Amino acid sequence: MAAVQFILHYGGHWLVPLVIARVVANKEWLRFAIVMLAANLIDLDHLLAEPMFDPDRCSIGFHPLHGWVAALAYLAALAVPRWWARGFGLGALWHLAVDYGDCLMQGA
Ligand SMILES: [Zn+2]
Repeated sequence: MAAVQFILHYGGHWLVPLVIARVVANKEWLRFAIVMLAANLIDLDHLLAEPMFDPDRCSIGFHPLHGWVAALAYLAALAVPRWWARGFGLGALWHLAVDYGDCLMQGA
């Protein structure tokens, strides 16, 4: 994995959610950020895959929690009038966006 892609991937997963939370959640942004970061746990679906981690594989559409059905569920979570549901939905959708960026950079 190229250095730029590495930075974009991990910065995207662990730093940008802090910025997004700061923008969308004003006063309670830190707990919102924690829920958004927790949404990175959707990567646990990689445990079901063989091999578990493959840097050249595109996660989107391959892993169950990285598919379009899952994306619709995350989108639905945004409609739930609970800050933690919205934080999770937004975090998961952002996670998919970052993973998708990886796919584009792989040329897949
Ligand atoms: Zn992922």
